[in-house]
Amino acid sequence: MGRTLQLHRSPVAVEIGVSLERALQIASQMTMKTTSETTSLQEAAGRILSDDIASKVDDPRFDNSAMDGWAVRKDDCPETSTKLRIVGTSQAGSDVTPIVGTGEACSIMTGAPIPEGADSIVMIEDSSYQDDFVIINGPARPGFIRRKGENLREGVVGLRSGTLLTPAGISLAATMGHGQLSVKIRPKIAIIGVGDELTSPGKPLAEGSIYESNTFGLSSLVEKMGATPKRFDLIRDSIDSLRNALDEASESCDAIITSGGVSMGKWDFVRRIMEEEGVIEFWKILIRPGGPPLFGSWRGKPIFGLPGNPVSSHIVFTVLVAPWISESMGSDQSIGPRLSNRVRVLMEEPLKGAPRKLCMRRISIRLEGDSLVASTKTHQGSGNIHSLVAHNGLSLLPPDTDCDQGEIIDALWLH
Ligand code: AMP
Ligand code: MG
Repeated sequence: MGRTLQLHRSPVAVEIGVSLERALQIASQMTMKTTSETTSLQEAAGRILSDDIASKVDDPRFDNSAMDGWAVRKDDCPETSTKLRIVGTSQAGSDVTPIVGTGEACSIMTGAPIPEGADSIVMIEDSSYQDDFVIINGPARPGFIRRKGENLREGVVGLRSGTLLTPAGISLAATMGHGQLSVKIRPKIAIIGVGDELTSPGKPLAEGSIYESNTFGLSSLVEKMGATPKRFDLIRDSIDSLRNALDEASESCDAIITSGGVSMGKWDFVRRIMEEEGVIEFWKILIRPGGPPLFGSWRGKPIFGLPGNPVSSHIVFTVLVAPWISESMGSDQSIGPRLSNRVRVLMEEPLKGAPRKLCMRRISIRLEGDSLVASTKTHQGSGNIHSLVAHNGLSLLPPDTDCDQGEIIDALWLH
């Protein structure tokens, strides 16, 4: 744990310089309050279920064929070729099927009901026709019959509350007969960029200005989490405009994310205003990049003050804010990457760690033979957002630990 300090006018002792695990722990004590809403299945992808969903039907609903072919009696089909009389066809969607007696076969399509009397399927590829007869040249397989209820029985819960609705989950909800689902509302999250030097992309740049990028990156990260971002106009380095923006954000949103202004600089007004008028729970995390974030509340709403450096704000969102949003929304799965989803990678080159800090260098992970190998491609500066595009993972080098070439280390595989 880091040290604690009584900040100026802050009523409680603030933890300063905490581990990432401790930061997650502190933040999880103040989550967003989320309610539920009903949505159509079509709209439910990427949302989080707020009720258990039980199947309204048996899946499959009836015994059916897994193959196009012939429904037969296994006893009629020894290993050598056999001639069976064709008694009809069973089609998917039809409800009248012929009865298969001894020495008979029924043509059958994938998904079609198994005719009475048949107990096995012969694949169409293992047969040939001769007038009203079929010559069976391959095995008759009971295993090609999909049994009623073998996937899910009526009344059994197939999707649990808290499940992130992946495309497969949506398909399963449909299979179980649900046209509408109860899902967690999308929390609204304010995104506020702070800095005198910032200019919106597309506008002319004055001397000394730079294009602002963080509010765009953070908005899309928030959206990816199934929440709704509300981007605010850029805020100058001024206490009054920051206060106005934070007030408006706390009234209209469920949580607030700021970027910039949380370090030790004279113009780091987010830290200052939080120190003087907000509540800070922790400040600074023992990670590199992304050391200076703070977490607390503004007028009762949770607020993450992220660093201004583009890579830092992105990484802190990924490892701290994303799991917090997941948890707030009652998700039982990781929507974004989590530290627990680490992989082991073999580094192709040495990596420098950081004193006292978990070091998350950008790395490119790929599968080579049986192992995951990783390398670095670009300059690693926390201002270099290109490094997050050029790589697909982050090293998780423990504090005070360098990595030699050929060493196997923990990493997060991001995309
Ligand atoms: P700060 O945390 O305000 O000291 O900013 C650290 C660095 O990040 C400075 O180089 C800023 O110019 C840059 N920066 C701050 N906010 C943004 C932003 N929204 N988009 C891009 N760069 C930013
Ligand atoms: Mg600044």
